[in-house]
Amino acid sequence: MSENIIELKHISKVFEDGFQAVSDLNLEVKKGEFVTFLGPSGCGKTTTLRMIAGFEIPSEGEILLNGKDITKLPPNERPVNTVFQRYALFPHMNIYDNISFGLKIKKMPKNVIDKKVKRVLDLVDLEGFENRKVSTLSGGQQQRIAIARALVNEPEILLLDEPLGALDLKMRKEMQLELKAMHDRLGITFIYVTHDQEEALTMSDKILVMSEGKAQQIGTPEDIYNEPKNAFVADFIGDSNIYNGIMTGKLKARFAGGEFNCVDDFEEGTHITAVVRPEDVVITEPEKGIIQGRVDSVIFKGIHYEITVISGKTETVIQTVKSANVGDRVGMYVEPDNIHIMKADDSINIIPVDINNDYKLELNGHVIDRSVTKLIKNAKRNSDGNLVDEHGDLIDKSRLKIYATILPGDIEMTDNIEDGIVQGHISNLIYKGDHYSYVIRTEMDQDFIVDDEDLWNMDDFVGLIIPKDKMKFTVKH
Ligand code: ADP
Ligand code: MG
Repeated sequence: MSENIIELKHISKVFEDGFQAVSDLNLEVKKGEFVTFLGPSGCGKTTTLRMIAGFEIPSEGEILLNGKDITKLPPNERPVNTVFQRYALFPHMNIYDNISFGLKIKKMPKNVIDKKVKRVLDLVDLEGFENRKVSTLSGGQQQRIAIARALVNEPEILLLDEPLGALDLKMRKEMQLELKAMHDRLGITFIYVTHDQEEALTMSDKILVMSEGKAQQIGTPEDIYNEPKNAFVADFIGDSNIYNGIMTGKLKARFAGGEFNCVDDFEEGTHITAVVRPEDVVITEPEKGIIQGRVDSVIFKGIHYEITVISGKTETVIQTVKSANVGDRVGMYVEPDNIHIMKADDSINIIPVDINNDYKLELNGHVIDRSVTKLIKNAKRNSDGNLVDEHGDLIDKSRLKIYATILPGDIEMTDNIEDGIVQGHISNLIYKGDHYSYVIRTEMDQDFIVDDEDLWNMDDFVGLIIPKDKMKFTVKH
């Protein structure tokens, strides 16, 4: 038998309205593991959990339970129970009736039910609460009852969908520890959903970081914190300084206005994203730093100071136990192995364009004053107006693929959406030290990467102005 209690194999979910909430997700969950789905709101966490519970059927892919395909098994035949953010207790019933509800439907004998209720109340540390009314319990206690109600069915897997989301911070911290202790005590598998990175890091054996329905990274909390796979994960997990840069030599990278030694090896000239944790930036005397800047703000955070330093157009956030004064000139230094370098995959937009009947290029219905004829070596229009190659043979227009390449910095965002050549919603944003890097998703599901110095909001509907002379075209045929 497989040691994985749950396996997701190439799971996708497209809803009836055509919206794809989950794309090609793979995951292995070991028996007894505490696995967390982490990602921003709307990234597909609940949908994935609901597929494991059986409330949704995947559009593609398989779900295995102990190696057996359960993709289409009804929820009540799966050894799985779910705890939701809204505890959904019955307010007019006492605790005993709330917990025993499902068992009574299964027509279990009263003495067995009594024993089971007592056992799960012990587990959630609410022994003796059988006759209390729901309305007399605090939010934290109600959530523990919701967990008891799920546990009474003795599931092999407990699914928890943002179960602490409705609690205040202090109660949430307490419940995090309790849930973790409960997991260790029970030995059953927990699959936990949260958008709170700190919660995920403290509780989990394994974290699946999701964005836009896709797995961004799967790993232990340490892996994900120390070795983020891309800028999204780095930005989402903890506060990071994220810089655009370029490799300037063997194990040397230039970013934030300085040249740093690093331990990641990429070819000279490669565009990179460098990630440095705030606690890894060392403040020095100006001349001893690799880069210099001016202290812009100092905030005391209880155990450390959070200091923001501006150098040129770049902003760096530093956590340190030593304070500084606003306006001070300082140097900054980072140890090579504290610099995490990734190849920048978002440094250019490659956008397919259409060819109209006049053999001109079009982007989203806007004619770009460039003729295909000029893009293909020795091509010309024959007397019938058709495109032919050097031998006079017809070139099949439908087999030509033309791409415009556009740099993120050459696109301008506008809220006069009609001014844009394309329109879309902001679906992601990452702060990169001196500008924001945005992902704009158009109605045609085309993503544009745009660099902009101003802060826009997630989901803003914007127009993109792309100067035609900033587009370069490549032809595939
Ligand atoms: P999360 O739990 O990460 O916040 P969800 O899994 O709930 O995200 O939703 C992912 C995306 O799928 C969201 O954009 C949501 O609006 C969409 N979605 C969820 N359920 C449905 C549905 N039944 N029909 C269409 N779209 C849905
Ligand atoms: Mg959700």
